[in-house]
Amino acid sequence: MTEIAGVLLDTRHWIGGQRVASPETFPDHSPIDGSLIAEISRGGASEAAAAVAAASDAFPAWAATSRAERARILHAIADGVEKRLEDLANVETVDNGALLRSHRRGVMPRVAHNFRFFADWLLSLGHDDFETRGHANHVSWDPAGPSVLITPWNAPLMLATWKVAPALAAGNTVILKPAEWSPLTASLLADIAHEAGLPAGVLNVVQGYGAEAGAALVADPRVRRISFTGSVPTAQRIAEAAARNLTPLSLELGGKSPLLVFADADLDLAVDLAVEQYDNAGQVCLAATRLLVESSIADEFTARFLARAASLKQGDPRDEATDMGPNIHQRQVDKIDGFVRRALDAGATALLGGEPNADLGGLYYRPTLITGMAPDAEIITEEVFGPVLTLQTFSSEEEAVELANGTRFGLAATVATGDRQRAERVTARLVAGTVWVNCFFVRDLQAPFGGARQSGVGREGGTWSFDFYCDIKNTVMAPKGWQN
Ligand code: NAD
Repeated sequence: MTEIAGVLLDTRHWIGGQRVASPETFPDHSPIDGSLIAEISRGGASEAAAAVAAASDAFPAWAATSRAERARILHAIADGVEKRLEDLANVETVDNGALLRSHRRGVMPRVAHNFRFFADWLLSLGHDDFETRGHANHVSWDPAGPSVLITPWNAPLMLATWKVAPALAAGNTVILKPAEWSPLTASLLADIAHEAGLPAGVLNVVQGYGAEAGAALVADPRVRRISFTGSVPTAQRIAEAAARNLTPLSLELGGKSPLLVFADADLDLAVDLAVEQYDNAGQVCLAATRLLVESSIADEFTARFLARAASLKQGDPRDEATDMGPNIHQRQVDKIDGFVRRALDAGATALLGGEPNADLGGLYYRPTLITGMAPDAEIITEEVFGPVLTLQTFSSEEEAVELANGTRFGLAATVATGDRQRAERVTARLVAGTVWVNCFFVRDLQAPFGGARQSGVGREGGTWSFDFYCDIKNTVMAPKGWQN
């Protein structure tokens, strides 16, 4: 057992209801100060095969468990999450560096809600019945089978449970492979689910690197669903492996979302929306990192934005007063800095930041605003995944929409305008899975969530999650041929 933030946790895999070690481990560092906090079992082909075997063995009984009983266990898991909320929040903050106050008040309550929401949705999941020339049609949502869930490090437990909860509710067994930079809360989730009465083998957690544990899991022909959240290059590798077995897959990927600020917008609101994009040190897939501002208000917007952004307090994410914590890993900081350096070398200007905060050590990148780039510059078209925003101006609605839609991504878009008709015209033309108008990050689990273009394949949330995790079957019964 390892003690992290005063919490004892097991850093081995959880397979078939048991803790299983690997011959080798990998190191887990805290982004708060870069210190080594744990050695984690390093899974590979044999652990992946064992987890898929355990999930396959457990599948028939779990699939046959009544909906009411599955819902009851999911609610018990939510109870366990709420009981251990402080532990989960503290461990997650030490492991991935996001703010403790957000984990306590926002993220972990949402983790519990993920289980409650899908438990309740399961109970009302529809059966469609209709008649064709006297024949009765009956549509049912059948559990699909063992499901591999692969998740990133920017919101580890939150994103994992968006998948775990609907997959379990649907009657599937799961193998969760958390990101190697934030493996800890998945291990606590295994404990919580076990204590809640989830049978052995229904939820398995395999730790390890993507190229080892992850690649072995997605290549296994016994797996009936793959749900992945992460980057485009990894998604392409997973899609290739899935294609060999024709395993259905759902992909939630990166973004380069725009915030369009029209001259008729409430400027205070628009500035608030822009500064909010530094949340989680910019490590949010949905972040509107491209600020597109109407020329006539650009100077005033920029002045107000810089004043607001200057008041952001960067520091230890456990401190209540901190607004921005560290970035996840030195490799990520180097990547962020590389994007910024190349933009500046090509003639762009940093109106804010543009380097790591040397006072806090190398992992804290300063909130950054870059301007003066060509529309096809790398920093405009590629996802940085750090606290780096770009500023461009436009002179017409037409130009705003063209800039907004000008990347290979289409995850989200945000529009600030005081004109409702403009909002309707513009939102109708934006290519994005989610569009917010005069708001940001309002997310209801009933709503479809996912990306257009290279931001993803498929949708999660409500009905869409159950459609993905189930084999939907239509049964047709003739009116004749009956003995009784
Ligand atoms: P990543 O693609 O590097 O890794 C994600 C996961 O995939 C990790 O668990 C990793 O171990 C695993 N993996 C890596 N190679 C693999 C392989 N060959 N086979 C199977 N699994 C493999 O992404 P990341 O750096 O952890 O996360 C950041 C990315 O995630 C960003 O692009 C961000 O936009 C995206 N993201 C998207 C959403 C969304 O909902 N659309 C949400 C959060 C993050």
